Amino acid sequence: MVNAMRHGIIASWSLDGVLLLQSPKSRLLTLLLTAGALSCGGEQPTAPTDGPGQEPETPQVVDLDVGWITRAEPRIAFAKGYLDSSPEEGWPAEGQNVTWAAHAINWTDAPMTGVAYAWLLDGDVVDTGTVDLPASSSTEVPLELPWTFTRQELAFRIDPSNRIDEIEEGNNEVVVATDALSVALWIEDGLYKRFHDVEHSLGVGTNSFEDWAQYQVRRWNGLFKNARVPEMAPDGVLDRLRLDYVRTFPDGTLGRSEAWWTADSTVDMRYGFPTKRTTDARQFLDADLPDYAFFPSAATMLHLHEMLHMRGLSDLYRLDVYQRRPWSNILIEENGSTVAGSEFMPFIQTAFGGLGSDSLVYQYPDQGLMAHNLGRLSLHSILLLNRWAGRRTQQRQAGYPIQPYWGEMPSENRLRVTDKEGTPLAGASVGVYRSGPPPHGQPPESNYYWSNTPDLVFTAADDGTVLLGHNPFNLHPEDPGFQGPMTLIVRVEHEGRVGYGFLPVTDFNLEKWRGHDVGEYTLAVELHPVE
Ligand SMILES: [Zn+2]
Repeated sequence: MVNAMRHGIIASWSLDGVLLLQSPKSRLLTLLLTAGALSCGGEQPTAPTDGPGQEPETPQVVDLDVGWITRAEPRIAFAKGYLDSSPEEGWPAEGQNVTWAAHAINWTDAPMTGVAYAWLLDGDVVDTGTVDLPASSSTEVPLELPWTFTRQELAFRIDPSNRIDEIEEGNNEVVVATDALSVALWIEDGLYKRFHDVEHSLGVGTNSFEDWAQYQVRRWNGLFKNARVPEMAPDGVLDRLRLDYVRTFPDGTLGRSEAWWTADSTVDMRYGFPTKRTTDARQFLDADLPDYAFFPSAATMLHLHEMLHMRGLSDLYRLDVYQRRPWSNILIEENGSTVAGSEFMPFIQTAFGGLGSDSLVYQYPDQGLMAHNLGRLSLHSILLLNRWAGRRTQQRQAGYPIQPYWGEMPSENRLRVTDKEGTPLAGASVGVYRSGPPPHGQPPESNYYWSNTPDLVFTAADDGTVLLGHNPFNLHPEDPGFQGPMTLIVRVEHEGRVGYGFLPVTDFNLEKWRGHDVGEYTLAVELHPVE
């Protein structure tokens, strides 16, 4: 129930916040509220007096909480196409009436009536009123606005003049970008309750799963905003994210049967949190959170990683090259034994952990959220996100991991090979090894194998260059069996010595996206004698 006082102004706030306490038994609450009201110079609610012989009451814990701002109407499914649809598809029409709804939660075990609220658009109050909030439940407070594709900042505040004394004052406002992509979070009851039990004790302004989620969304938006790259992305990632709603489910029901990205196509991204650990990583990652996960921590960036798959991003850790891992193996030999782990291709340590330094020979250097460094975005990811900026999620994008952009390369690609000192290796024999399907007898899920036979062989010119052609990866992302991004292994033989290097497909994409008709690459290899 909403008693809205339309089109108020800031000066009227002190008149709005009259609290009528429905539970006069709660003496402490009343005293707290009285003190709060006095400190604001407001009207003083009547405090009940305890008669002699009355039992002392359990202190009432008061908290009002703004969970999220949803776009209640119209709800529109995400776009069907893949960049061939219009950028307006899936959004309301310019000027169309849109109903926003703030989700106000009353965590108090008592109803709160006449609670003031305010809506602000780009910092100006556009609506104020009072709302009755039943005990331990939530209430939607609507606002109608005409839709515009111009980004506006919409904010909802509960108890805007701070008349009500709460155990947590840091969760009374949510601010969103009106044109943000929408995020839905599904969570099972047990974990949802655990968040409410734990969050406030952390002392970081939170008291619920919703507050935790809003904190994460602010961090995700910060990551986008700060992903600035001179010339290529001077304003960072342009889109913003908005928590559209949280939905709870009985424990054990967020299971494998849920199609993980199509279950609600009215939101651009979705993630689920079961109470118990699930083994289906494609669907809901490990949400049996250890206690530290309740803190705002970098680990929670993992959820954004998973959701960005719905925006068409693929895992960039797939560009890393390992030996003898279930999904990756190098069969190339030198002097009769495997090169991986030898002086030709030593195992490397990585600052980002990864999956074992006893087998890693190459790690994609521009680490970001889609690989192992969760605190930043790779240039490749930034440019893809901005290519789709302002567009709803599209059906084809969400069909991870088969993405046409992997095939986008310059019409010609020039590789220059040098020694470690940068001297061009004139006349070198350059062998290019693609990863391919597993050899006979290997498990079929092992999809990255580099055989002992080069797929392409070139002779370097006097300046150390070879022309690799348009698509040396022979990559056909439209093929149903396409497994995602890959890395070429390059063998350079020069005057009885051999060195190895790596060329990730992302480098070719980036050259194309820079507008280069001929991509330019340099590999400086460390040469060792061969027998
Ligand atoms: Zn992933």
